Amino acid sequence: MGAFWNKMAYLYSRSTSYSYSRDYEVRGLFNYSLSCCVNSLLQSFSATTELLDILNKWHPDGIERNYIPQQLKKALLAMRDKSHPAPHRDFLDSLYCHAIRRGTQQDADEIFHIILNLIQKQLPDLSLAQEIRNLYEIKVETQVQCSQCLFIQREPNSLFSLPLAIHERGNTLESCINSYFQLQKLVNGEEHHCNQCEQKQPSTHGLKLVSLPLILCVHLKRFRNDGAFTRKLHSKVTFPDNFNSGIFAAGQSENVANESPRADEDYSLYAVIVHIGSAMFGHYTAYIRPTQDQAWYYADDRCVQPATWADVQYTYKGNETAYLLLYRKKSCNSSG
Ligand SMILES: [Zn+2]
Repeated sequence: MGAFWNKMAYLYSRSTSYSYSRDYEVRGLFNYSLSCCVNSLLQSFSATTELLDILNKWHPDGIERNYIPQQLKKALLAMRDKSHPAPHRDFLDSLYCHAIRRGTQQDADEIFHIILNLIQKQLPDLSLAQEIRNLYEIKVETQVQCSQCLFIQREPNSLFSLPLAIHERGNTLESCINSYFQLQKLVNGEEHHCNQCEQKQPSTHGLKLVSLPLILCVHLKRFRNDGAFTRKLHSKVTFPDNFNSGIFAAGQSENVANESPRADEDYSLYAVIVHIGSAMFGHYTAYIRPTQDQAWYYADDRCVQPATWADVQYTYKGNETAYLLLYRKKSCNSSG
């Protein structure tokens, strides 16, 4: 048994000419001790063919069992091979060696970050690691302006997902983005130390969007810590299947210095990670559209079925709620 798996693993890691289709049939994934969260993320990674394109440029010698980039590449290739008996088992095993506990409830945004950060840490080819970073990285700049001398302190920052707070009442993706970039006054104990006045001063805090990546992951922050326990916000959040990056320009306050990035880029939704249930007892599934021309699929662990945009919209509110949204910049997806 061990020899068989090693042989399979070796073949997948060495596959230099393994061809895969962008237009593929989504395959179900067995739930190994509450792996629904990772399963759903794997479905979204599988639909991110740009990620597999980058991983395919890397040809490691031999097998490192706990190497996330290698196990991810192997799992993504195996998910496109219907004859493979257990495409993601080794990936799960290697993930459980890295700070993730087997058989526990996971947070999809947290696991998404753990996987991308492990790729950054473990991929020996630094230029490929950078390519993967560029694929997902949202660049922002924190700007704190002193209300006395108007000096602006800037600090660059980067994110793998856009963490959007949601309100109790109705939200739209655009309204959440606007609140995220809204200027905040720092007064009454929150004063900021101004480097020019050399003392604490009332200030305004704002975020400036510097650039958007090819793959934009939006995190709808539905889990809120209320003292000792976490609760889930089931509030309605509508989101479009296509949007123009101009909605970000609209959210940028005039007081935030400098021009915003290009406002003429179109983004198209291709994956939605869904959380079902409460903060304590939940389950993850995913809606996936591998290419713009394809129909939606609904992946609930082993079970995969065709879906429609109306089904996806059902995750605006209710027991099944959208948690992570993955958008792809249209112009760059030349393969459709
Ligand atoms: Zn000042």
